[in-house]
Amino acid sequence: MAGTNKTFDAVVIGAGFSGMHMLKSLRDKLGLNVRVYESGDTVGGTWYWNRYPGARCDSDAYIYCFTWDKQLLQDWNWTERYPEQPEILRYLEHVAERHDLKRNMQFNTRVIGAEFDETTDMWRVHTDKGDDVTARYLITAVGSLSTTNIPHFEGLETFQGKWCHTSRFPRGGIDFTGKRVAVVGTGATAVQAIPEIAQQAKQLTVFQRTANYCVPARNGKVDPEVVRARKADYDGVIDRIRKSFFGFEYGFIEKSALEVTTEEREREFDRMWDAGGFAFWLANYQDMFFIQEANDLCADYIKRKIRKTVKDPVVAEKLIPKGYAYGTKRQPLDTNYYETFNKDNVLLVDATIDGPIERISGRGIQAGGKEYEFDIIVFATGFDAMTGPLKALNLKGRGGRTLDEQWVHGPQTYLGISVAGFPNLFTLTGPQSPSVLSNMPVSIEQHVEWVTDCIAKMREAGKTTIEATGEAQEKWVAHVNEVVSGTLMPGANSWYMSANIAGKPRAFLPYLCPEGVGGYRRKCDEVAANGYEGFALA
Ligand SMILES: Cc1cc2nc3c(=O)[nH]c(=O)nc-3n(C[C@H](O)[C@H](O)[C@H](O)COP(=O)(O)OP(=O)(O)OC[C@H]3O[C@@H](n4cnc5c(N)ncnc54)[C@H](O)[C@@H]3O)c2cc1C
Repeated sequence: MAGTNKTFDAVVIGAGFSGMHMLKSLRDKLGLNVRVYESGDTVGGTWYWNRYPGARCDSDAYIYCFTWDKQLLQDWNWTERYPEQPEILRYLEHVAERHDLKRNMQFNTRVIGAEFDETTDMWRVHTDKGDDVTARYLITAVGSLSTTNIPHFEGLETFQGKWCHTSRFPRGGIDFTGKRVAVVGTGATAVQAIPEIAQQAKQLTVFQRTANYCVPARNGKVDPEVVRARKADYDGVIDRIRKSFFGFEYGFIEKSALEVTTEEREREFDRMWDAGGFAFWLANYQDMFFIQEANDLCADYIKRKIRKTVKDPVVAEKLIPKGYAYGTKRQPLDTNYYETFNKDNVLLVDATIDGPIERISGRGIQAGGKEYEFDIIVFATGFDAMTGPLKALNLKGRGGRTLDEQWVHGPQTYLGISVAGFPNLFTLTGPQSPSVLSNMPVSIEQHVEWVTDCIAKMREAGKTTIEATGEAQEKWVAHVNEVVSGTLMPGANSWYMSANIAGKPRAFLPYLCPEGVGGYRRKCDEVAANGYEGFALA
């Protein structure tokens, strides 16, 4: 297989939001010679791969974009509050073209291994197209939610119909008209896809393992006056989201849910419910994530809404979340999700009540001793989040050590951006950074800026390697785990807790900074200002 064997200053893996920005920054600010490898056939990452019906962002679009192209912030007009996948992909293609990014990108190329050469202090990177290149810096922009998870279902290979995973949907879509369709899973993706598929399918059967707390998206056109005001104050918007808790223009209600009157609480709940989006999740009473009784009040409000919306009380009971606190799993945004279960052509099969999926047969799915027949099965079963795409890179650090060996009990990083024993490796939005617990472009830009600054300073100082110390890493891991143990998050079998994948060591994957993404940014900046405290430079 023909491939290159060149030397670059930096190799970046992935061409989504992170890889695009990293390239732009290293190439155009620092003048580095960069190669980006991407396994897809164009830019976009998440927005290239996730083409299922109903796929859209659920961060408000005005802050779900790059903030470094100030002119584009003014010129680009989103068609709705949460644009659909094709529109976000169009935006990212436009950015790639506008900044001539593709000339440094190689598509349809998967990085299959990389090792740090201790004699030259360079990374050697290998691809499935036969490239064997070297680079001083290796930057992973592989995404947190890019490794598809299809649980092992016995008999899947015998299924006579079509099946696919939501993040590997065929281009051009699937025509569900007149078909008997199964959706397996009820996470954020399924909550977007189910109402859309139900409109086409003859019969839709949803297989639910865990009921979710869904809150209304309230998508639609944004008032032109609001758009104008935001554009007039984009610098203010950017400043606020960067200093915020979760990367949104939200803050907690600075009271306990337990200290206010029932009337006041209901008024606040109604206000957040009516605002739609993540307000109910991320701008609720400040003790919601910490105190079970406060959380119960929020959960109870949503449960009442579910019972009111779903007409059949038996189905409503199946849809009522049980056994974990509200907000401790990724918040799905609902557009007609609960209403969809009032349709005659929609059936809900709940693992606890009706019995779990036992196997896939030639004709469909067997669950609870009963066989359900299908033409198409859609797996909305999520991702091997955060650590999955990094482990798949087969990285070898000092002494040939792999991430698999180092992460047997869960991820071990320093600041979520570096790993001890892996010099000059930077993991954008890596495990133990705020990442998926934030509006991600904010966290992506913070990491890209920090890495760019770090490389610039290393070059100025004539340093060739930077590497987290084992001691700093140990302290960071302990800190990440200590913070989360003070919240209700560890009580949920969520993908945040690595619990969606059989055999994955139970560990909290992101970092919930007590001072939010603003505090995390300050912490990273302090580390840099103190001469890269916790790192060894050589
Ligand atoms: C359906 C869905 C909706 C989402 N909605 C939101 C939202 O509303 N708000 C929000 O903040 N976040 C959302 N996210 C999270 C989203 O992933 C991030 O917002 C953002 O797109 C991440 O960008 P990225 O570049 O870091 O990673 P990605 O977009 O995942 O890109 C990573 C790229 O790396 C490539 N890659 C991985 N491994 C290799 C390899 N070995 N070799 C070559 N290439 C490789 C992949 O092909 C992929 O293209 C959503 C995620 C999903 C799945």
